[in-house]
Amino acid sequence: MDRDRILLTPGPLTTTLRTKLAMLHDWGSWDADFNAVTAGVRRRLLDIVHGHDTHVVVPLQGSGTFSVEAAVATVVPRDGHVLVLDNGAYCKRAARLTELMGRRVSVMSFAEDEPVSAAALDARLKAVASITHVVMIHCETGAGVLNPLAEVAAVCERHGRGLIVDAMSSFAALPIDARSMRFDALVAASGKCLEGVPGMGFVFLRKAVLDACAGNSQSLAMDLHDQHAYMEKTGQWRFTPPTHVVVALAEAITQFEEEGGQPARLARYTDNCRTLVDGMSALGLQPFLAPQHQAPIIVTFHAPAHPAYDFKRFYAEAKQRGFMLYPGKLTTVETFRVGCIGAIGRQDLQQAVDAVAASLRALGIPTAAV
Ligand SMILES: *Cc1c(COP(=O)(O)O)cnc(C)c1O
Repeated sequence: MDRDRILLTPGPLTTTLRTKLAMLHDWGSWDADFNAVTAGVRRRLLDIVHGHDTHVVVPLQGSGTFSVEAAVATVVPRDGHVLVLDNGAYCKRAARLTELMGRRVSVMSFAEDEPVSAAALDARLKAVASITHVVMIHCETGAGVLNPLAEVAAVCERHGRGLIVDAMSSFAALPIDARSMRFDALVAASGKCLEGVPGMGFVFLRKAVLDACAGNSQSLAMDLHDQHAYMEKTGQWRFTPPTHVVVALAEAITQFEEEGGQPARLARYTDNCRTLVDGMSALGLQPFLAPQHQAPIIVTFHAPAHPAYDFKRFYAEAKQRGFMLYPGKLTTVETFRVGCIGAIGRQDLQQAVDAVAASLRALGIPTAAV
């Protein structure tokens, strides 16, 4: 089939033709035309969180994790103490990178099928005065849980501690308003809910803490304070920018705005998620999470309890039918994941459910319906 398969993965994801076509030109990294694209992207990213008064945004080359690492390195002083709220794989990654950068780190563990608890955080911060920063993941892409960002931000503010948010898989889809919640750093990337291509992240840094960030980073390339200072002075990226990724993101943001911004994107993803869960339930495939904890970003499903089930073969069958699924990331139960994000709509999800049904039948696994 001479057509791209639908990516039901949480990044990279299916992009529009317009976004792909934006990458068909070469740009000089020092040139005024490209600098204008960068400036426009930064301005419009700040629009999305209503952050012009309180925050700056600093883009960084690399995948999303590079920006999480850069945010921790830039915001947390070397003698800082980080508490990571852990309910999944991406939380564990954040704790690991914080530790590798030599910061003191403590982990507060929660079940992976439930949100982290702001009340438990409140008690911990009351008890442990040495904690300087809290790291939380907004949507834990591991299982798909939505964590309570506003509540956690309020607790951190009340205790005068810093907050670093990995909003990678939620930014631009779920509401995040810098006017009503305080965060020192919030991280996202080009290839998630903005529906750009992967290759750059960006970090919102709170203006009030920006000056104090100077000299925190033990890494040259990951120093967001330096990247910001250079960009403000020259309009350019400090080191070679991912030019094609940046222009694709600019085009993707234009389509995001045309669609109606964050509320419209949330509405489409919510509809995608409902279509998916309803269709899969009709096949007898149950989501891992209770509906009230489920973010409309990615859904974890229990694998069929049938001896013929094998993810690799299931994946290959679905791929042949035009849909790319995602393996589960849980250690305790056999699962697989299906993303609701990207330039896809209800029809794509309905067809995905049909492809799943046909794939299971091809493996000899009976489904409840169809
Ligand atoms: C996608 C994602 C990341 C970044 O992963 P990369 O593979 O580095 O792009 C980080 N955190 C969360 C919650 C994510 O969903």
